[in-house]
Amino acid sequence: MAPSSDDHKFYTSWSLIPVLSLEEEQERKEYESGHIISPLTAFFAAPITDKKQISRLSQALYLQYPLSGTLRHLKRVCACQSRLEILLRPVTPEDQLNLLKNHMDISKQNDDSPKKTFDYKTEINLQVTDILQDGCLDLNGLGKPYIVSVPSRAAKNQNEQQVWASIWPCTYHAKPKITNLKECNSGDGVSEQGLLQIERNMHQALEAAQQNQSRGGKGVGAVVVDQESGKVVATGTDQTGVEGDPLLHACMVAIDLVAQQQGGGAHVKLSNMQEVDRLHKESEQGVESKGNEREKRKRSKEKYAGTEVPYLCTGYEVYVTHEPCVMCSMALLHSRVSCVYYGCSTSGGALGSYYRLHCNPGLNHRFLVYRGVLEDECQRLFCGNEI
Ligand SMILES: [Zn+2]
Repeated sequence: MAPSSDDHKFYTSWSLIPVLSLEEEQERKEYESGHIISPLTAFFAAPITDKKQISRLSQALYLQYPLSGTLRHLKRVCACQSRLEILLRPVTPEDQLNLLKNHMDISKQNDDSPKKTFDYKTEINLQVTDILQDGCLDLNGLGKPYIVSVPSRAAKNQNEQQVWASIWPCTYHAKPKITNLKECNSGDGVSEQGLLQIERNMHQALEAAQQNQSRGGKGVGAVVVDQESGKVVATGTDQTGVEGDPLLHACMVAIDLVAQQQGGGAHVKLSNMQEVDRLHKESEQGVESKGNEREKRKRSKEKYAGTEVPYLCTGYEVYVTHEPCVMCSMALLHSRVSCVYYGCSTSGGALGSYYRLHCNPGLNHRFLVYRGVLEDECQRLFCGNEI
């Protein structure tokens, strides 16, 4: 829960809720249920009887039977506590048939069905030479082989990794912040100070929306903030009124004002609109001057040496009172915004309600999205049908 602060106009509590992909939502449910069970696959393995042979055996097996594709997470050697074992190669369906002929029912060890225990070792009546039949390998240092069941895919989060590692050593690559389930569930990933800053920024969007509404416009506001400096770069409000342009939703206005600061912008008449002009000037004060902003962006190009000019909103985050529509979400995506915070959901919203464009694997940019910031206050604003 966000902290309340006496120097704020609003005192309500709110929750910072990550908007995840469907897959990430599923992971979160598993995490919350506490039932994490590894899918397993069968491997021939053998004890290492001569420690001096570990490196040589690992390299030889790596060349002959690489752990590639979906098995890349598996480490070749298990050297935990008293265990010193090495994976030889996967058990193939043909192996299973042969073993079944020898009355070795290992089929139950090789399916993907959940298992509650991991007493995974199955003795077999074979020698290493029966399993590694190419004759090229020097098998010195290997003991009598057996079959082990190991995780058949990489762990998706740290909790899974704990379970996986108790079965067989595996590598794990942490995902970006949004899929860190611990952070998602407890909010531990954002400090109290961070939550206050988020609230302050959303408060600015709310204030702009309220002013726009008091002048007969729609109560939707958006601010663009430089993540590094924390300064407001642009503030936009919905300008789709009778005199306005139907495309001028708050996010579109804010993005266009950023573009104008960088020498572009498609909606020149925005600067003639009294309210937006005032907000624009406030935005300029936030970054001192247009010139400074342009210079800063120019300097930021150095960070991207060897690549094209940074995108319009690279390194910027957006605070918007209402969940953006498809048009605004695509504009945010194309301008490469890094994170979007919004207050309340909208039925046709494209960042969680109707679509989840920010985590669509078919699109070439993904960004973090959080909802629920000052949700009640945002909800109270009249916003009309489109935002
Ligand atoms: Zn929109």
